[in-house]
Amino acid sequence: MSFSSPLHVGRPNLGSRRRLLSRVRSVLDRRWLTNDGPLVREFEREVARVAGTAHCIALCNATLGLELAISAAGLSGEVIVPSFTFVATPHVLLWRGITPVFCDVDPRTHNLDPAQVEALVSPKTTGVLAVHLWGRPCDVEALEAITERHKLTLLFDAAHAFGCSYRGRPVGRLGLAEVFSFHATKFVNSAEGGAVVTDDDELADRLRLLRNFGFTGYDTVAQLGINAKMSEFAGAVGLTNLESMDEVIEVNRSNHAAYREELAGIEGLCVLDFDPRERSNYQYVVVEVDVRGDGPTRDALVDVLHAENVLARRYFSPGCHRVEPYRSMFPDVGSRLPVTERLAGSVLTLPTGTAVNRDDIVKVCALIRFVTKRWAEIAPRLAAPSPGEDHRA
Ligand SMILES: *Cc1c(COP(=O)(O)O)cnc(C)c1O
Repeated sequence: MSFSSPLHVGRPNLGSRRRLLSRVRSVLDRRWLTNDGPLVREFEREVARVAGTAHCIALCNATLGLELAISAAGLSGEVIVPSFTFVATPHVLLWRGITPVFCDVDPRTHNLDPAQVEALVSPKTTGVLAVHLWGRPCDVEALEAITERHKLTLLFDAAHAFGCSYRGRPVGRLGLAEVFSFHATKFVNSAEGGAVVTDDDELADRLRLLRNFGFTGYDTVAQLGINAKMSEFAGAVGLTNLESMDEVIEVNRSNHAAYREELAGIEGLCVLDFDPRERSNYQYVVVEVDVRGDGPTRDALVDVLHAENVLARRYFSPGCHRVEPYRSMFPDVGSRLPVTERLAGSVLTLPTGTAVNRDDIVKVCALIRFVTKRWAEIAPRLAAPSPGEDHRA
């Protein structure tokens, strides 16, 4: 049942090679490689169209996008953030000298638990940095009510949520600003890339200054800035991949449905669903492994899948609060993050995207079914040395 070549999580989705090469040729012909070039501008218009926002500021990655958004929004002191996220989310706060205040997530949605957010607001809190995990939007209404009540800024790390909707409105228009990632592993990629989207004109102006060293004119610098620009080559990749976005959603959606169908009825496994009333990119096939009786743990299942060349991934394991520097800064914070602790030990993601087809999925699921059903027989044999090793010894 093993795969001869590995099946990866986050294999890049690639659009038309012909269209990409023709764009790259146009970049070379123009000799305009970066600094507000025509392809990056076109990419910004297209992203703003999908997100339904007045502004899109394209950047070299989402991590700098988050940093610049935090800086442009004037956040300081403490910011409330989930621990069940990619480590870039709290890292950007620390880079800005802000204390990340880790908050637990809702066990059903995997997104910030609004009740705990409100309980964590202190006199030093200036904002909430929420994550639309797996592309499933947060409880935006509750977070808006809390941040309005306490006069806090609400920003969204929308790295997973490009092309998704919240109550029929595109993700992008929520909070003061939202940040997309166009990293190679994300739904739409520009190899490396990110963007901040907002309807706030002043914020957009500040972001454009910040990403280009603070330059306001040819040789005038108005403030401290940094270099966070997207190159024309990244723009070419991003624009080309955007053109096949709807096809990728279709592939992801049918892959997701196939996984749900094939994994249905396996005790202790639950595949996360997407709200059928919303637009989703279906970029993540998320499975929660709840060990029952003599079934495998999440880690044991991941090990077996890896041995068969199915490169499933643990997410987000062990949780941001358990990695440095946060572990040393906040050694006891885990006690208020019980859901995060449980999910960090029980969630895995399975390979999807345009590099994975239905036959692959049927095989992966048959393997998972076999392993979970027969775990009592398999587990002792995994612990023992294999016959092959005996021969070599
Ligand atoms: C990928 C990711 C980021 C960082 O994006 P880059 O473009 O790689 O900097 C931030 N937050 C989350 C939740 C992510 O998944």
